[in-house]
Amino acid sequence: MLDYLELEADLTPEERMIRDEARRFVEEEVEPDIGDHFEAGTFPEELVPKMGELGFYAPTIDGYGLPGVGERAYGVLMQELEAGDSGIRSMASVQGALVMYPIHAYGSEEQKERWLPALGRGEAVGCFGLTEPEHGSNPAGMETRAERDADGYVLNGSKTWITNSPISDVAVVWARDVSAEESPVRGFLVETDRDGVTTNPIHDKLSMRASVTGEIGLNDVRVPEENVLPNVEGMKGPLSCLTQARFGISWGIVGAARDAFEAAREYAKDREQFGGPIARFQIQQQNLAEMATKITNGQLMAYRLAELKECGELRPQHVSMAKRHNVEMAREVTRTAREMLGGNGITTDYSPMRHLANVETVYTYEGTHDIHTLVLGEDLTGIAAFE
Ligand SMILES: Cc1cc2nc3c(=O)[nH]c(=O)nc-3n(C[C@H](O)[C@H](O)[C@H](O)COP(=O)(O)OP(=O)(O)OC[C@H]3O[C@@H](n4cnc5c(N)ncnc54)[C@H](O)[C@@H]3O)c2cc1C
Repeated sequence: MLDYLELEADLTPEERMIRDEARRFVEEEVEPDIGDHFEAGTFPEELVPKMGELGFYAPTIDGYGLPGVGERAYGVLMQELEAGDSGIRSMASVQGALVMYPIHAYGSEEQKERWLPALGRGEAVGCFGLTEPEHGSNPAGMETRAERDADGYVLNGSKTWITNSPISDVAVVWARDVSAEESPVRGFLVETDRDGVTTNPIHDKLSMRASVTGEIGLNDVRVPEENVLPNVEGMKGPLSCLTQARFGISWGIVGAARDAFEAAREYAKDREQFGGPIARFQIQQQNLAEMATKITNGQLMAYRLAELKECGELRPQHVSMAKRHNVEMAREVTRTAREMLGGNGITTDYSPMRHLANVETVYTYEGTHDIHTLVLGEDLTGIAAFE
């Protein structure tokens, strides 16, 4: 596996163990069927509890049955899972960073006891409902509303493009509390079997096909007061979750690029044209040299993010830079890898085209490339250019 600057030499024995376990999981449980799942547009749901058993969900949380590993271990895990498929990493990212993280950071003790062990074991599945049909890049414009009634809240609205929603037991729904002054955004834990909740799947995706995506419809859904996340108010709630998830993406997407690179390297050595392997042509060597350098740059960014996060110095803007850079890097690397495989490169027999298609989603979700550009622009100039 490409690790050109030997970054993995610095991994601790625990981090190495997590890497090896995740790599074995991907080789044995993901790789054999992922092409078929991608073609069929299905997610291998049987892997949900297996990933739970292996401790792949929110492993940085300490307590509630979770191991409390370091940030670099988490990053390495995401990298290995996404080398399998972005859909597998997305499942783990959403469950861990977008569902368990807010419950842990902002939930009541009762909410933590109820959900964290079950989600951690993969016995329950969660989703994160922020995006709405009319509000994607600007989630602060959300229209989903929560209105107080005698024993809690009544929720109305709709969310779309929600990873895992059709297979979820609980949704973290972000809505405006219209009964409070200035209608702040608040987080609600909504069990998906409540009356008035619908979670229709979105089927016609050409990217992230081995992942379940759906809507969340909320039609006069009653939730008790104890389902509100008590310790956060305003856009800080969902945005802080996104920073966690984008950290995982910055690491994960390097795995997708690395896997595409390895497929191209192997193919170039095996495939013969004009009387010998195509790897002997300078153009193909240049492709490999460019890809390896780009991936190594991405790895360096990811490792540095983990160091900053570990010492409490990580800013959301750092994560924006790494997400933006690494996803664009993966977009270029997977395309070149696909090209190097010629006609075979457009099939599901090889990983590059599948990764390339998945990258289009990763480029768009968790803040589009453009939005992260604007985040950096604002940080560098002090002038916001969003509107
Ligand atoms: C497979 C998949 C899974 C997803 N999972 C989830 C999930 O689990 N939970 C969730 O809440 N959301 C999820 N999303 C939604 C995702 O976060 C949104 O698609 C994303 O935020 C972009 O919103 P949009 O699609 O409405 O695009 P829009 O916001 O309409 O953007 C359209 C285009 O306009 C550009 N644009 C927008 N504003 C500006 C600006 N100010 N300046 C310049 N250009 C701009 C964008 O960059 C983009 O190119 C998922 C999306 C996909 C595709």
